[in-house]
Amino acid sequence: MEHRVAVAVVTGAARGIGRRICSELAERGYRVAANDLNAPDETVSELRFAGADALSIPGDVSDEAAVGRMVETTMDEFGRVDVLVNNAGISTIVPAEETTLADWNRTLAVNLTGPFLTCREFGKAMLDRGSGRIVNVASVAGLLGVGDRAAYNASKHGLIGLTRTLASEWGGRGVRVNAVCPGWVKTEMDDEDQAGGGYTDADIEGRVPMARFATPEDVARAVAFLADPAQSGFVNGHTLSVDGGWFADGSWEG
Ligand code: NAD
Repeated sequence: MEHRVAVAVVTGAARGIGRRICSELAERGYRVAANDLNAPDETVSELRFAGADALSIPGDVSDEAAVGRMVETTMDEFGRVDVLVNNAGISTIVPAEETTLADWNRTLAVNLTGPFLTCREFGKAMLDRGSGRIVNVASVAGLLGVGDRAAYNASKHGLIGLTRTLASEWGGRGVRVNAVCPGWVKTEMDDEDQAGGGYTDADIEGRVPMARFATPEDVARAVAFLADPAQSGFVNGHTLSVDGGWFADGSWEG
């Protein structure tokens, strides 16, 4: 049976930015395959309640076998993949000299090896059809060396390097690959980082030119733009900052 409705796969979809990306893409007519470590049941129920076709593809993105199962389920149920959004990520805030090898390895595994595996495996299906869009959720931490985040910054710099390389390798075969770089976004990740004593709301509001956090919706709309051939059909290998001008201003002292 031929499946005509476009399909989007979103990783890390149980909460925060990923959950909002799912609803944004569903509103734009995509069928959504939602991933998280455990089945993202609330996200899938929310999407179905809103009338969208949604599928749960649980699994750790850094686990090669799990990614294989995610692709298999998506292809079995939805028959195609048009958009992949690599949103799953973990934050590690600790001085470089106190970063354990375990923290370093886990951060790189989730934030960089995971997107490599999902790009490789979902990318094959896109390359077979000669069509697809991948959006990697990096960070301003992929552009700057903000202190106390050696593993996180390295993983996000690496993700931007992966984005540019795939854009170069796959652009001529119909698959565009771009990244969004959110600044500070009010999510549970941010709550956890603040609880660790890294920074306060006032620090962020005082340093971002637009004097506020990004919302998950700000990020989701940028992702939807990069996923849409009608809006960004010749944009490939780009990193789109969604940070209220923070990177442009460049001031961060701690
Ligand atoms: P969050 O912690 O609220 O949500 C992340 C989701 O990813 C969670 O549901 C978690 O279970 C899932 N996840 C973690 N490891 C996974 C794995 N191995 N496999 C599958 N799923 C996994 O975070 P968020 O704030 O919504 O962040 C989403 C993305 O945006 C991350 O990549 C993050 O680095 C990036 N980002 C966030 C901010 C911010 O200020 N919140 C800023 C810049 C970039």
